[in-house]
Amino acid sequence: MTIITDDQCTGYSRAGHPERPQRITSTVELLKSQTDLPLTWVTPTSVTDEPILRAHTPEVLARLNVPEDFDGDTPFFDGIGDHARASVAAALDALQLARAGQNVFSLMRPPGHHATRAKSMGFCYLNNIAIAALAAVAPLASPSPLLGERAGVRGPSIATEKAADSVSSIINPLTPTLSPLGRGEGAGFKRVAVFDFDVHHGNGTEDILLNQSGVEFFSVHQHPAYPGTGANSVGRNCFNYPVAPHAPREGYRRQLTHAVDDLRSFRPELIAVSAGFDAYARDPLAEGPLLAEDFYWLGQALRKLNVPLFSLLEGGYSRDLPELILAYLKGVAGK
Ligand SMILES: [Zn+2]
Repeated sequence: MTIITDDQCTGYSRAGHPERPQRITSTVELLKSQTDLPLTWVTPTSVTDEPILRAHTPEVLARLNVPEDFDGDTPFFDGIGDHARASVAAALDALQLARAGQNVFSLMRPPGHHATRAKSMGFCYLNNIAIAALAAVAPLASPSPLLGERAGVRGPSIATEKAADSVSSIINPLTPTLSPLGRGEGAGFKRVAVFDFDVHHGNGTEDILLNQSGVEFFSVHQHPAYPGTGANSVGRNCFNYPVAPHAPREGYRRQLTHAVDDLRSFRPELIAVSAGFDAYARDPLAEGPLLAEDFYWLGQALRKLNVPLFSLLEGGYSRDLPELILAYLKGVAGK
């Protein structure tokens, strides 16, 4: 299991705000002190505007530099644009690693699933999961004959070595750590499922992915609750599974099962998970019933689909968040 995180993502906060740095620092502490689940730690690379602009209007990017709060839930911070971009970069790295066959979890903030195409809101600035889903279904860059030579397809020669040098300076003009997806290439998947188990409806993800070809969105959430959407399925690809406040655990698990079953019938080649842990019984922001063992079960249910999978942290505000994340990761890893 690979964990993507960095120290910078804990470098901003507002007193009393539930989306606080301790969510990450206490999770890192627990994950580093446990020995049940072997972990590899990596830091996010970086991202250009191109993959972000598949999901957002240019105004959303420009607004990140305007020093005014976005709404009552979503403060402006110095450097919030850089923090939001790092979270996007981590999402694209997670996609890249999943594509290479790894189990991966992005443990970054800010979260993203409430950010719509045109608006930052609900603790979210850029929609990490939607940007990654659109990168996943974007076509692969068409192979260049020079790249074939570079990979040794026709065998090395002085001429092709020279060609390779010139190509590499053209295709990699940015930092050496910037991944192809981070600079706007696509991963070329034909069927990508986005699964969102945060207790709040992924309204931003729905807004961005609505009727996009190759993508289906499945969201299980409390309704009514913030942000008020998600009572019914919409379009031809966004499926909502609302659960009433204070529903019993069995009822919540039934809706999760229903969503996973529907996701399976879509036959996705890749699953992107908005992993929010605020349907937990002791979460201060909602009225969900789930326990740590339910997040373990959910991780297992997703693993059993036997499809490349990556997960991004969305919500989860209780002090037990680290244990909930560890339970989910163990389920995903089959431990
Ligand atoms: Zn939430």
